[in-house]
Amino acid sequence: MSKYNNDEEASFGGWGTVYIHIPFCKQACHYCDFHFSTSLKKKDVLVNALAKEMELRKDEFKNKTVETIYFGGGTPSLLTVDELGFLIDTVYKNYQVVDNPEITLEANPDDLSNNLIIQLSKSPINRLSIGVQSFYEADLKLMNRAHNATEAKSCLLEATKHFKNISVDLIYGIPGLTNENWIKNIETVLSFNIPHISSYALTVEPKTALDTFIKKGLIKNVDDDLAQEQFHILIEKLEASGFIHYELSNFGKPEYFSKNNSAYWQGKSYLGVGPSAHSFNGNERGWNVRNNSKYIKSIEQNVLPIETETLSITDKYNEYVMTGLRTVWGISLDKVKRDFGDSYLNYLLKASDKFVNLGLLVISCENEESNKKVLTTTRKGKFLADGLASDLFMI
Ligand code: SF4
Repeated sequence: MSKYNNDEEASFGGWGTVYIHIPFCKQACHYCDFHFSTSLKKKDVLVNALAKEMELRKDEFKNKTVETIYFGGGTPSLLTVDELGFLIDTVYKNYQVVDNPEITLEANPDDLSNNLIIQLSKSPINRLSIGVQSFYEADLKLMNRAHNATEAKSCLLEATKHFKNISVDLIYGIPGLTNENWIKNIETVLSFNIPHISSYALTVEPKTALDTFIKKGLIKNVDDDLAQEQFHILIEKLEASGFIHYELSNFGKPEYFSKNNSAYWQGKSYLGVGPSAHSFNGNERGWNVRNNSKYIKSIEQNVLPIETETLSITDKYNEYVMTGLRTVWGISLDKVKRDFGDSYLNYLLKASDKFVNLGLLVISCENEESNKKVLTTTRKGKFLADGLASDLFMI
């Protein structure tokens, strides 16, 4: 295993993660295509439906132990501490949970008042993932975020007094964001001693407000070359500050990698509850209906609003290639041979050959003590990881 590995093989199969989707937001960010509603009218009844879905699905995790609980969204910080506590208790009531599980709350700066941070710090939640995105008003307005730069800084100041395990989200490639301001955004996060940063290029998803504004010429289009430069700036600055770039969009200090996200990338099982939440049990992938009313109605009738598909061996190989190339652990050639067979390994080696020659991919030993080989992206290939992965897919 790589020196950064967090016990992938020992854990695989027996561990799981519970993801709870909170489908509410104060307002719609212009770039967002996640599932949420800006009406909070059904919040109470939806929280009860989430708990009921966990009860209805308790047998799915019969042989698993939950090692992480993740509140994602939407905006989970719109729930009260009591509502969050009720949902955490429901996880404990229905599933076997490790001692000290990682429990993450995605939160927006405008919700994180000093009082709420203190209340959360007294709850079982032990990790905050804060959606800062930028410290510049122009960027926040362009993206229609609900917070301002002052709120972003003051919530980090308070959060770091009460939580050690904090992640901050930053977005680069925003039209108008210069490299100089991008560097200042990174430095501002570093000044708060935050141990984990998730950072994404602004992408223009179809049918979002951002897409419409760009098409109407009201906002400049995203400049991919500038986004790529900003991605490289990010890597350099964070690696120089002791962060490990352990997944394409994620950087952590040692001991602070997200256990929840690592579970997805390492193919562990996860059970997603709530509208639009996805689940995976090693063989089947499932996704809940993307509509709050339909979700609530179905759960109230004891019917799971879920569609599922069974993954073929090719699907599993393609997923492994996709997630492997995004992570510091890479694609283990041994694992490909063991789990998929010689034909897949030969296909992978043949398909990757030209990218190795172009200096975008590299085959190396897992670590100094092992001669097991892994295929990973080079620094030059990192920005192209998703495209490279699709060239290695078996079709
Ligand atoms: S807060 Fe998050 S989920 Fe809600 S609209 Fe903004 S980006 Fe989307």
